[in-house]
Amino acid sequence: MSELNLVLLGPPGSGKGTQGERLQEDLELPYWATGDILRAAVREGTELGRAAKGYMDRGDLVPDEVIVGMIGQRIDSPEAADGFILDGFPRTAPQAEALAAKLEELVRELTAVLLIDVADEEVVRRLGGRRTCVENGHVFHVEFSPPREEGVCDIDGGELVIRDDDKPEVIRHRLEQYHAKTAPLVEHYDGQGLLRRIDGTSSPESVAEEIRRTLATLRLEADEAI
Ligand SMILES: [Zn+2]
Repeated sequence: MSELNLVLLGPPGSGKGTQGERLQEDLELPYWATGDILRAAVREGTELGRAAKGYMDRGDLVPDEVIVGMIGQRIDSPEAADGFILDGFPRTAPQAEALAAKLEELVRELTAVLLIDVADEEVVRRLGGRRTCVENGHVFHVEFSPPREEGVCDIDGGELVIRDDDKPEVIRHRLEQYHAKTAPLVEHYDGQGLLRRIDGTSSPESVAEEIRRTLATLRLEADEAI
């Protein structure tokens, strides 16, 4: 079987994390959210982790090369022999270039970039409907899992509020930032023929099924190319 080296892209609220975890199980590949890789390296005190901590302690962004170095170490390990799923990196076209250079060093390349597409209004509907219990942080959704009594937590009777992060104007701002950063990246990968668009609007099961079909097609293409 050929290796599957995947990158997952998608806006906040696209269900990307859920799909990443499903893929990890279905394909038995490591799924790396980049934030986790960074935190693990810092915790373990690896050379790159110490370098990253230096930047973070000074309040600076960790440079792309340091993050790519960490990802490279993971990719160049037995757990990633059959492939990997990256989430949260690259986020920009220069980061994509840095990742491609590192993969080339390791004599590997990306198989595909899966973009889980969800319209902005759907994201606002999904995230903007959340209501959080002020007492214990229980989360409800006005549409998908409403509390029995409006504004009151089912579990402890706490007041349900809209967190700042879930306010429509805040969500729209995050989406603007996402589009501004991601558009060049999407174009970059589309130009390389790596981009596969997945309709993220339907149920998590249907989205997972579309991803499975897409990967099956990719494998057929790869086998025919040999
Ligand atoms: Zn509660």
